[in-house]
Amino acid sequence: MARIIAVTNQKGGVGKTTTCVNLAASLAAMKRRVLLIDLDPQGNATTGSGLIKEELDTSVYDVLIGSHGVKEVMKKSMPGEYWVLPANADLTGAEVVLLDLPSKETRLRAGLYEVDNDFDYILLDCPPALNMLTVNALAASQGVLIPVQCEYYALEGLTALLQTINRITQALNPSLEVEGILRTMYDPRPSLTHDVSSQLHKHFGDKVYDTVIPRNIRLAESPSYGLPVLHYEKQSRGAIAYLALAGEFIRKSVA
Ligand code: ADP
Ligand code: MG
Repeated sequence: MARIIAVTNQKGGVGKTTTCVNLAASLAAMKRRVLLIDLDPQGNATTGSGLIKEELDTSVYDVLIGSHGVKEVMKKSMPGEYWVLPANADLTGAEVVLLDLPSKETRLRAGLYEVDNDFDYILLDCPPALNMLTVNALAASQGVLIPVQCEYYALEGLTALLQTINRITQALNPSLEVEGILRTMYDPRPSLTHDVSSQLHKHFGDKVYDTVIPRNIRLAESPSYGLPVLHYEKQSRGAIAYLALAGEFIRKSVA
């Protein structure tokens, strides 16, 4: 059975997509079978995996509306080690279309049954909003991985996110839990970083990953080549950090 993880934070620019692409590639490098699902109409996880949005015949949108199965739509990432259920601008309309469909919150979950035995991990890259796409992601998942940028306002949105997670747990998906808190764009110098870190530890205890992702220019550059950082510059601090995260992620997800 696949372990399904939603990478969520309704704040934009905190490193959700970067984490999805690079964790997927790192898990694949460790011989895990991975499917990355792009649930953001911007399609950054799609292009960051080497696929061209404009050339897609079908996308995750078709799975959500039920016209295609996951296996018909998924594609290999360009370096070829993990699979991608891609997204493009079609997904912008999904919110409205879903409202008129039955079981609007659990359509992704229903679509994923088909591939449950084909993957070890399914990672869901969520849009920067607590909308119907994010609800579908949370309803389909066992764990929520929350990237947090260690800065003054980092904790502000977390209350709303945790309330949403609680609501989904009660209404749709009792097995949902916080998988882990990942500190991204981490700068070890400012004292603020340490304040945020200690608050995260206070709230989330050992759910906070020991691995931190440093600010690293290679991580920002690699998407424009359609490559995970591991295949762009494997000696970079970003590549090493995401490999370390994959190791910790595997250990903790079996614990
Ligand atoms: P989100 O998906 O949460 O909106 P992204 O993963 O797209 O966030 O990251 C936002 C921007 O920051 C992107 O331009 C990305 O390349 C850059 N970025 C993300 N993580 C890092 C990092 N650790 N170091 C440097 N740049 C980063
Ligand atoms: Mg994103």
